[in-house]
Amino acid sequence: MAEAYDPGNIFAKILRGEIPSQRVYEDDAVVAFMDVMPQGTGHTLVVPKAPSRNILDADPATFGPLFGVVQKVAVAVKKAFDADGVTIMQFNEPASGQTVYHLHVHVVPRFEGVPLKPHSGQMEKPEVLAENANKIRAALGS
Ligand code: AMP
Repeated sequence: MAEAYDPGNIFAKILRGEIPSQRVYEDDAVVAFMDVMPQGTGHTLVVPKAPSRNILDADPATFGPLFGVVQKVAVAVKKAFDADGVTIMQFNEPASGQTVYHLHVHVVPRFEGVPLKPHSGQMEKPEVLAENANKIRAALGS
């Protein structure tokens, strides 16, 4: 049997505003914010507000709005960082590498010849995250 959704997970706390995040986008259904341990410059997480652990227990109605924002953010990060490409990743349950149990999609700008850094590796400096978030907000706004 699948594990239950835990409303105490860290992304639920971010969505409720209980802990800080560098938000770059928000609408009625979806929030996007900077990953604090980025696998590359501009690594952004796109998170539906509706509660589910991951893709396995999500309401299918979540995916339309979620992936609409994934596309918007992918286009924006490519522009903001003049990236060569964008990697989209999504993990489900511990065996896949999932570490936070609220559905989310990783959007990572990619540059020719630059490998991804390790998943959940090193914390980025808050000022770097803030600067990158500003660039993404600017690209989303134009
Ligand atoms: P996953 O393994 O797909 O569940 O990914 C969780 C992601 O959340 C990792 O890339 C972490 O670096 C990131 N992360 C963990 N805590 C925070 C936080 N407080 N704010 C932003 N990103 C976080």
